[in-house]
Amino acid sequence: MVARQLVDRGIRQCRVLAAMAWVPREWFVPPHLAGDAYDDAPLPIGSGQTISQPYIVALMTECLAPRRGDKVLEIGTGSGYQAAVLAHLGARVYTIERLPDLLVEAEERFRRLGLTGIETRLGDGAAGWLEAAPFQGILVTAAAPHVPQPLADQLAPGGRLVIPIGDLASQELVIWERGRDGTPRERRAGGVRFVPLISRLAFTEEPEWR
Ligand code: SAM
Repeated sequence: MVARQLVDRGIRQCRVLAAMAWVPREWFVPPHLAGDAYDDAPLPIGSGQTISQPYIVALMTECLAPRRGDKVLEIGTGSGYQAAVLAHLGARVYTIERLPDLLVEAEERFRRLGLTGIETRLGDGAAGWLEAAPFQGILVTAAAPHVPQPLADQLAPGGRLVIPIGDLASQELVIWERGRDGTPRERRAGGVRFVPLISRLAFTEEPEWR
């Protein structure tokens, strides 16, 4: 997976590649899909949700570029795989999921892997985690029509927010940075397709096709 799906597509940061090689992806998919865990594709994890394609996890992690000890907020815990990659990189991870069943399963995986640097919360991640803010990094793993204002507000000066922005059909990966003087800067890292961020601050309802 690391050589063919990540290095060949341009993922360059050695520590990101090492973290992707370390986290056992087969632990983060339903048991009947363990044989497909390293496929070059997103996979269903139940409740209509998905674990992202390995390349997208690596790309988002590389775009965020968390340093050891950084406080990172992830929105959309899902299987817990992305949070595990960030924790293995030495980030202090705060992760929020709106679906209780998924969160319970992810917490069990963190325990089994001995990943202690991950705080979890059940709720609407678009509102952020005010008590733990500000964050050096924020990673949103569900699509939104725009950056939810609470997340922009909870980003530290010099911090970086990575989020898929667009409509329900397709999005662009946006890297939004708050300069040390407070000036925002934005760049784009290509097209992606994520499940929606369900929130009064993003998409307000489950789409009908779900
Ligand atoms: N990061 C996950 C992983 O590594 O498996 C994949 C995330 S999945 C593509 C998107 C997740 O966002 C789903 O689990 C979904 O329930 C969650 N989600 C959607 N809206 C949310 C919200 N407002 N707050 C928190 N989680 C939300």
